[in-house]
Amino acid sequence: MESLETVWNQVTNILKPRVDPYHFRSYLLPIRPQAWVGNHIVLEVPNQRFVDWLNSAYLELIQTELSTITGRQMKVRIVPRNGNGNGGAPAIPSNPFNNRYLYENFVVGRGNSTAYAAARAVAEHPGRVYNPLYIYSAAGLGKTHLLHAIGNDTFNSRPDLKIAYVTSEEFTNEFIQSIRYERSEELRNKYRNLDVLLVDDVQFLAGKEATLNELFHTFNTLYNNNKQVVFTSDRPPTEINLDERLVTRFEWGLVIDIQPPDIETRIAIIESKSESEGVELPDEVVDLIAQRVRSNIRTIEGAILRLSAFAAISEKSITLKMAREVLSNILGRETPKVSIETIQRTVCNHFEISMKQLLGRGRKSNISFARQVAMYLSRNLTDSKLGEIGLSFGGRDHSTVIHGYNKVRDLVERDPDNAALISRLERLAASGGE
Ligand code: ADP
Ligand code: MG
Repeated sequence: MESLETVWNQVTNILKPRVDPYHFRSYLLPIRPQAWVGNHIVLEVPNQRFVDWLNSAYLELIQTELSTITGRQMKVRIVPRNGNGNGGAPAIPSNPFNNRYLYENFVVGRGNSTAYAAARAVAEHPGRVYNPLYIYSAAGLGKTHLLHAIGNDTFNSRPDLKIAYVTSEEFTNEFIQSIRYERSEELRNKYRNLDVLLVDDVQFLAGKEATLNELFHTFNTLYNNNKQVVFTSDRPPTEINLDERLVTRFEWGLVIDIQPPDIETRIAIIESKSESEGVELPDEVVDLIAQRVRSNIRTIEGAILRLSAFAAISEKSITLKMAREVLSNILGRETPKVSIETIQRTVCNHFEISMKQLLGRGRKSNISFARQVAMYLSRNLTDSKLGEIGLSFGGRDHSTVIHGYNKVRDLVERDPDNAALISRLERLAASGGE
């Protein structure tokens, strides 16, 4: 019988031209054949991440080739190298990223689709597209979620890469400690040899010159070695008091924002969260939360958890009445400030038409467009039902409102200028119009 070594050499020769050269070098070459008993073969790899990765990507192929070469149905087990006898094999690194923050459970909608796509691209080709990537938004809109999703994805698909997530506070503290205990070298080794660095909430570094300087040099080293850096913040780079040099660097890459979710996205998020929590929410409760909690997804999650806890404790099923009571303070915090009338006034001002024209029957294109925009905003910014909106627009029926809404939504999705116009009007209306 042939030796395991010989058989394994044959397998690698067959696989080499058939798999991605990078995968071949990084994952298949490090494999060491260990044992062959009957139709069982054991292969050894440097650590658990290789095991997981190979099991999901190449186990079947390896098994098939081994079976073909040996002429019998082989079963392959891939195991991590263990510490004993190997002179200090590397410890198995465990995944440091939050396992609830994945691409799979990130609901994609109009406001976050660009950020999501950029994050995915970065995880697929670290250091090669969008470097640095800078994502900003108000609180609770998924920045940290996306950073961890990049981390999780890269950690699982590229066991060979060194990836770190750090909040700006942690970075600052580490930096201060490193000076106090004269361990600057250690800090540099830690951050400047990474393949992917994820820095959360850089706005907290505003004004911290020494820390910013360290971050700047860290960034430069990584960037010059084509290593990926991703930053998040609550504002655009130019609006934070950061090192000018760093701000310029941010602009070399891709700067994108996440906008608050529209009503459809909020509904999708509520449905996805309640499903993963195993909570059953009647449609009218989903609508209630979606209409009232507009600007923070963490608040949406809080509402669902609270409701489900209350239902469990009281042993009742969730109803609209219960939701109103249990969530009264959460819902109260975000009561709508915008009235349909304010929206109408804002739109009239912008399009320079009169209220009478907006509510009238005229079909001139700029007037109909203004009307559709106002309907769209009314649906997004107020609690009003479609029928009520129709009534406020000179007694139109709800299908006219839906038609107008859909038309503007499509425009916003297709055309950045229209998207910008709508968010400007949204802000204007929210701040009282004019
Ligand atoms: P930020 O860092 O922008 O303040 P987070 O990433 O902490 O926001 O998000 C707050 C919560 O909302 C998290 O639990 C996150 O999982 C959830 N979340 C945010 N955006 C989405 C989304 N698009 N789909 C599903 N959950 C989301
Ligand atoms: Mg965050």
